[in-house]
Amino acid sequence: MSKNVIVIGGGIIGLCSAYYLNKEGHQVTVIDKSNMDGGASYVNAGYLSPSHIIPLSAPGVMKQGLKWMFDKSSPLYIKPRLDPDFLKWSSAFNKSCTDKHVKKAAPIIRDISVLSQGLYDEIKQGDDFTYHYDKKGLFMLCQTEHMLEEEMKMAEMAQELGLEAWEVSPTQIKELEPNVEINAIGAVYFKCDHHSTPQEFMQEMKAHLKKVGVNFCLNEAVEDISLANRKISDIKTNKQHHTA
Ligand SMILES: Cc1cc2nc3c(=O)[nH]c(=O)nc-3n(C[C@H](O)[C@H](O)[C@H](O)COP(=O)(O)OP(=O)(O)OC[C@H]3O[C@@H](n4cnc5c(N)ncnc54)[C@H](O)[C@@H]3O)c2cc1C
Repeated sequence: MSKNVIVIGGGIIGLCSAYYLNKEGHQVTVIDKSNMDGGASYVNAGYLSPSHIIPLSAPGVMKQGLKWMFDKSSPLYIKPRLDPDFLKWSSAFNKSCTDKHVKKAAPIIRDISVLSQGLYDEIKQGDDFTYHYDKKGLFMLCQTEHMLEEEMKMAEMAQELGLEAWEVSPTQIKELEPNVEINAIGAVYFKCDHHSTPQEFMQEMKAHLKKVGVNFCLNEAVEDISLANRKISDIKTNKQHHTA
């Protein structure tokens, strides 16, 4: 049965959700507070990396996270605040930062990444898509012993999970890239990784969704969500109310 579905946020997660919901025959509306022409989903490195399978909640991250919390340009910036929901979330996150959790999560992250690689191939078969999608792998060049050790640990973990990755010596780096001056003491090659150009993917996905009738409400920020009988009954934005 076709339903009216509202997707909040038109980053890659929102647009891909809209893509599959539309394919299943639902009437989809995407609400985004921006003009949808920038942000993480447009500017990221485009890597689909089953090799880098250590979850964010890993041992040592809490200590690092506390330092990052006061640096807006850090990779994990969370605005520090004394709000009960935030404190509850921080405590649950802290409890997850264990080796046991890493071991449990790694094969799941690998599976999601490998599945995503397949979906990139599948979506590209559609008439509206020509985005760049390469399967060259990922070459991690290391300038310090510490970084090389860390990448080798990652490679060993990837190998244990059935992924292809191996160490590359400085001589081999020179052979692989004879015309480039590379300042590295060693490298690890993760053959299992793929990459795309996010800007292309996002533009083509947006154009496709508009063509197949997905509705976009841009420059509209969701401010409140109301519940009735444990179901969402109303979504309030800075411009209007939506029901679905
Ligand atoms: C520099 C960089 C490099 C990266 N490289 C990689 C990589 O190589 N591989 C990889 O897998 N990942 C990478 N990432 C991570 C990746 O970009 C993100 O995980 C991904 O883009 C998240 O997508 P998203 O749709 O969840 O969120 P976003 O892209 O952040 O989209 C969220 C959307 O929601 C909208 N929104 C937020 N609040 C509201 C509201 N209240 N009302 C309405 N709309 C709202 C925002 O405007 C935004 O458009 C990288 C990230 C960065 C920053």
